[in-house]
Parts: sequence; structure tokens; C-alpha cells
Amino acid sequence: MARSCIVMKFGGTSVGDAKAILRVCDVVRGRLPLHPIVVVSAMAKVTDQLLQMARAAGSGDRKTALTLARELRERHYNTAGELLGTALFTQFHGDLGAEFEELEELLRGISAVGELTPRTTDHVASFGEVLSSKLVTAAMSAHGIEASLVDSRDCIVTDNAFTRATPLFDDTNARLTSLVGPLVDQDRVPVMGGFIASTHKGITTTIGRGGSDFSAAIVGAGMGADKIEIWTDVDGMMTTDPNLCPDARRIKTISFDEAAELAYFGAKVLHPATVLPAIQKNIPVYILNSRNPTCEGTRIVARAPHCKNFFKAIAAKKRITIVDVAAPRMLLAHGFLKSIFEAFDRHRIAVDVVSTSEVSVSLTVDSNESIPALAADLERLADVKYEGRKAIVCLVGENLREIPGIAAHVFGELSDVKIRMISQGASEINLTFVIDEDQVPSVVQRLHKAFFAELDPEIFA
Ligand code: ADP
Ligand code: ASP
Ligand code: MG
Repeated sequence: MARSCIVMKFGGTSVGDAKAILRVCDVVRGRLPLHPIVVVSAMAKVTDQLLQMARAAGSGDRKTALTLARELRERHYNTAGELLGTALFTQFHGDLGAEFEELEELLRGISAVGELTPRTTDHVASFGEVLSSKLVTAAMSAHGIEASLVDSRDCIVTDNAFTRATPLFDDTNARLTSLVGPLVDQDRVPVMGGFIASTHKGITTTIGRGGSDFSAAIVGAGMGADKIEIWTDVDGMMTTDPNLCPDARRIKTISFDEAAELAYFGAKVLHPATVLPAIQKNIPVYILNSRNPTCEGTRIVARAPHCKNFFKAIAAKKRITIVDVAAPRMLLAHGFLKSIFEAFDRHRIAVDVVSTSEVSVSLTVDSNESIPALAADLERLADVKYEGRKAIVCLVGENLREIPGIAAHVFGELSDVKIRMISQGASEINLTFVIDEDQVPSVVQRLHKAFFAELDPEIFA
């Protein structure tokens, strides 16, 4: 049985420059007695830049792709120089250089072919976490922490659904035990890149945007960690996105279910899949601020204490399309819904909110390029319309089904807003509706003012 450990995941801004990485070293040093395993994201904005390079190369624009790659090289070299000092940097230089040679060769190859596949997209995107994990390991070693780089692609095994691969837990857990376990036992700090993984054949995959949180949970569950800490750039999970509403307040404790619902409906602070492995092993998850490490953050646990406020938080998810499917002659005949959902399944498009009438069904999906093909497919069954630039707003709280008048209260606050769809009661903990995307800031601010003016001090800080 391996010794107890914790997982500490640091997001893009937490490793965004030399100063931030030094803060990471300090925070990790303070946790050494708990045997931390560190998971890092790519430096802030790097994944976006890599994807931009990949697209440029895919369209045959080799020059842009290589210029962007050179900028990335500069940024990593400069950060490494600041962190390591001249002597160590000289040693490390070749290691980073080899990665950049490989990236540039890959970009040249993509632009020669002029085609970008999901598989090569993942290969390009993986450099962000490969580079940041090397950099953070070197910085830790230079600052007195006995750190060892572990390539996540040797540990986390997935299927081959490139760009959104699913982990294969049995194989992953076995590899984590054999590769990471001994390091923990030797008092070393394993450092791994989040987001990246590989298939059984060793082909690089990624587990979806924002997926480093999920990586941390996969590692935490596989290693039986005592807790999983998600270190980010805000004080914890807040009553709403603080960028949208400066009055947002920190939630001290929230349940796995509530946190998952918020994450799924747009609270980007946590990747929605993160809580699944944690729930299975009942491992508490904490959200903490690497710029304010003494703040106690948010604790996500199986069962949240009772809250006097109706709601814990408001989330909003933009870039939503409503698909209206109307069947005037068939009415909602037996089998009609089945054939609609089969069409969504064929195009691998997930549905978030559904509402039905006798003759029609409205469904929301994340806006993406497969929608025209889906609509063409559905047109064989019925009349189809689709409408983009919508947003889902989701209010989360305990036992909402049991509270009389809750919907009247919410929609009373929004009596002048066009509400396109409503869903309540599908789960006990959420009330969801769909509005025009440009209304999100004002709707969230108004609801926040109405429902979070007075806060239960047991739950909110
Ligand atoms: P990281 O790079 O550390 O993974 P992210 O950018 O993915 O960080 O997530 C943190 C951001 O999530 C915050 O800066 C904030 O703007 C946004 N956010 C959205 N909803 C919430 C919320 N309810 N609580 C806290 N942050 C939120
Ligand atoms: N770097 C990846 C992304 O930007 C994964 C992450 O940061 O969680 O999506
Ligand atoms: Mg994130």
C-alpha cells in the first residue's frame, strides 16, 4: 500500500510567468509533509496559441505557424532563464530546445500536407503541458524541492477520441501506481502535465479544454489521495463568475453535485468531469488561489451543510444554439423523440436543455460546426430551425423542488427579459433557462443582487 498523498493542480495563470512559478514552489514546499503530486496546465494562453499555430499550418500558412512557435520558444526560454539562473539554464536549454525542434518539425509537416486532423491537433496542443511540466520540475529542483518529471502520456491511458478522449481507468490506475507511487514513497514530488494522455499505442491525446482539473482528479483517484487541490486565480468557487459580477462572494463549502452542475453550466473554475473520480473515491476537492494561498478557498464534499439562501451560485454558459424540431403532421407520435435523439447521437452532439409541446421539441446544444449537418439529418423527420447566440443560465441550490414560489421569484426579477426555454425539476438542485447571449451580464447581475444580498455566514465568506 502506497503512502498517503495529495494532488495539487496549478492552472495556466498559476504557472503563467516566473513569479507565478516561484509562488507555486512556495506553496508546494509548504505541503511537503503531505506528499504532494503536482499537476500543471500549460502557461496561460499557450494552448490557445498552439491551436492557432496548428490551424495556421493546416491552412498552409507555414510562416505564421513558425512565427508563433518562435514567440512561444522565447517566452519559455525567458521564463526558464529567470527561474534557473545561467548555469542551470544552460543545462536545461537543450531539453526545451529539443521540444521546440519537434514542434516546428510537426508544424512544417502539417503545412506541407495542408490538413489538420484531430490527431495532429492533439499532438500540437500537447506541447503546452509538456513544456510547462518540464519548466516547473526544473524550477522546483532549482529551489530546493526534490521534484521528478513524470510524462502523463506514460500514465494516463485513453481511448482514441482525439481532442476529447476518455480515460481508461483500470490501465491508468495500474500505471500511476507503478510510475508515480515509488516517487511518492521516496519523498520525491512527481510533476505531471495535465490535459495530455495517450492511447494504448502511445499516440498522444488530450482530454478536452480545461481538462487539467480532470487530470488532477484522475491522478488523485488513481493514487487514493487524501485530497485534490485545484489552485487557480480566484479565491474559490464564487456565487457567480467574478468577471461578470464584481460582487461575487466565495462559497466555503459546496456539494459534489452542486459543483458539478455549476461546472457543467459554465463555471469555468472547475472542469465538469473533475468531480466524477473524486465522488467515486469520496476524495474532497478544494479550490484555492495561488495568488492568495492563505485564503481557505472552497471545499467540495459529498454532503454540503444546509444553506439558508435558496441558491448557492449562478452559472452561465454562452455559445448555445437552440434547435427547434416541429412535426406538424405526426404530432409527437410514439418513436418520434427517439428518432430525434438518435440523430443527435449520430452526430455526437450532446443536448443540455429540452422542452416539448404536443407538436414540437426544442433542444439546446453547444454551438459547433456539426449543427448544419445535424439539421439536414433532422429535416428528414420534421421541420427544423436553429438559432445561435443563446446562453443557458443556471441557478443551483439544494432541494429547489420543495421551495414554493421559487420560479415566480426568479422570473419575477426578470419580467422584462425574453426567456426562450425553461427547465426545472430535472434535478433537485437546478433551475435553468435560456436567454439571448448578450443579456447574460445584466441577467446574472440582477439575479445576483436579488438572491445574494444577504448571505448565510455558514456557507459564504
Ligand atoms: P485555471 O487556468 O486555473 O484552470 P480557469 O480560467 O480555467 O483557471 O478558471 C478560473 C476562472 O473561472 C476565474 O478566473 C473566473 O473568471 C472563472 N469563473 C467562472 N465562474 C466562476 C465561479 N462561479 N467562481 C469562480 N470563478 C469562476
Ligand atoms: N491547457 C489546457 C487548456 O487550456 C488544459 C487546462 O488548462 O486545463 O484547455
Ligand atoms: Mg481551468
